[in-house]
Formats: sequence, C-alpha cells, structure tokens
Amino acid sequence: MLKIFSDLRCLEHRSVVGYPESPERLEGLLEHFRGRAAEQEPLLDIGDRQRGPALDDPLVARLARVHDGGYIERFRRAVERGDGLIDSADNPLSKGTYDAVLAAVATALRAADWMLQGPHRHAFVAVRPPGHHAEWDQAMGFCYFDTVAVAAQYLIDQHGVERLAILDFDVHHGNGTQHLFASRSDVFFVSLHQFPFYPGTGAASEVGHGVGKGATLNLPLPAGSDDAVYEQTMQRHVLPALRRARPQALLVSAGFDAWRHDPLGGMEVSLEGYRRWGQLLRALAEELTEGCCLSILEGGYDIAALPGLVEAYVRGFEEASG
Ligand SMILES: [Zn+2]
Repeated sequence: MLKIFSDLRCLEHRSVVGYPESPERLEGLLEHFRGRAAEQEPLLDIGDRQRGPALDDPLVARLARVHDGGYIERFRRAVERGDGLIDSADNPLSKGTYDAVLAAVATALRAADWMLQGPHRHAFVAVRPPGHHAEWDQAMGFCYFDTVAVAAQYLIDQHGVERLAILDFDVHHGNGTQHLFASRSDVFFVSLHQFPFYPGTGAASEVGHGVGKGATLNLPLPAGSDDAVYEQTMQRHVLPALRRARPQALLVSAGFDAWRHDPLGGMEVSLEGYRRWGQLLRALAEELTEGCCLSILEGGYDIAALPGLVEAYVRGFEEASG
C-alpha cells in the first residue's frame, strides 16, 4: 500500500514571485493527487492548521536531535522578527516559514508512524521547503531543517530501528544529511548527484569518518547523465550497497530535479526513469525491510512537470512486484 502525506501549512513559506522553490510546486502536486484520490481511497492524507499535527515543543525536541538548539532558536526568532533571509541568499523567510518547515517535519514523522504499522506500507511525503542541504547549525540551498534526517533519527529513537538507509537521488548532493550522519554506522547514506555541481560536496572520496567510515557512499555523475547511466549506477553500486547495509527501514530524499527539463539541474532523466526508480526501490524495500519505504520530496523545479514526475515514481511503487 502506498499513501501520500502532506500538510497545507507547507504552502505558507513564501518568497518573491518567480522564485524556484515556490508554494506552486506543492499546490500542483496536491491538485493532481486530489484528483486521483477521488477514485482511490485512502491515497491522500493532508493535515492543516486545524487537523494537522501540533507544531509544539516535543516536535522541536525531535528537531534538536539532529540540529543545534541554538540554530533552531535563531531561526524561530528570525521569522518572528520578520527578517527577509537567514544564513544565505537562497534562504528567504516569510511569516509562514517557521510553521511550514515544522509542518514538513511533522508530516514526515506522521508518515513514519503510519509506515511502521506495516508491513508493505510505503509513504510519499509531499512537503516543502526541502531539507537535505540544511546543516547542523545553518540554513542552506532552500533548506532550513533536514526533514529526512529528523525522520531517520525519529525511527531510531521512537521505533527502535537499529539500522536504516537514506538514498538521495536529488540532482544536488545532500550535504546536510551526509554531514549529520558521517560519523555514524547506524545510518547508511548513499547519494547519486550531478558533480561537479552545487553545493560542491559529494566526491566519491567522501566515505564517512570514524565508525561511520564506509557508511557514506557518494556516486557523483557527470552532467547529461540519462536513464541508462542511472540504471547502471543503481544496479552496480546503489542496490548492492543497500543490500550490504541491511537496513530495517529505507528512506529516500526524493528530488525530481534530475528531470531532463528541470531549470536548475543538468541531467537527462525521463518520466520513465522516475517510474523505474519507484519500481526498484519498492522491490528493494520489500526484500530488505518487509516493505518500509519513506520517500520525502526534496527538489524538483519544473513546476508544470512535477506532478507527472511524482506520479511516475509513485506508480512505479504501486506496480513493482514483491
Ligand atoms: Zn536539488
């Protein structure tokens, strides 16, 4: 079973008109899946200010398991003061940014709870802003808090998961996620990304530190990589590495900016490519985890195409055998 989770508060983070990371990204997705949900219940679970999870101190404590408490407070105050930016020009703030970011995290945790009541439950978390560039104590690259990292830590703390894996297929390297878990052996991180490219990290030589050495796998790919290159990299490197890691849960930083027409990315992945990844990851999750895969939206800036790309990925999950 696959279910899509979202929260309307994620629309409240705003920037200037025409900014690539916009509420319209999520609005289009929700509109698309509302149409499908009319025929297929219960596909969609959307929280909001009245019915959504509380954005309260216990949630902030979850954030503080992977982020600096001082940074969380600095972020909250910056939004409250009405600051226009935090930490970088790529991190605009608006009145609704604090709630949007916390709602994104809360939605991922809600999806994680649902998934672990499985077996055979796969969740797609349609939230924004994205998270995988956010560092321990700073915002970066449209990201404020690392949603997938908070979800991973939550599975460990709350659900007793001992080993998990995070696969990041956003076109950009997930520097934040990598750095947050680089010294740990319980979270295996694998990233496929365009390289050299923003944010500059993600060389194959970055493999983790200390007991975490070997629990980070970077698969930098040249600009222009297409479905065939990704398929080969998945088969030769990603899937074998994930099998060796033996995760009890699989998390995915699902960015859709390796799409061939993405305005920010430089890759050549097709609609069929995303569908194929959905099939592969569903099959792998069934094989390794009894069917526990939590995918969280990261990038993807071709607003008109994004609903179709996510649809293709989700269909791949629904179609895969096993
Ligand atoms: Zn990206």
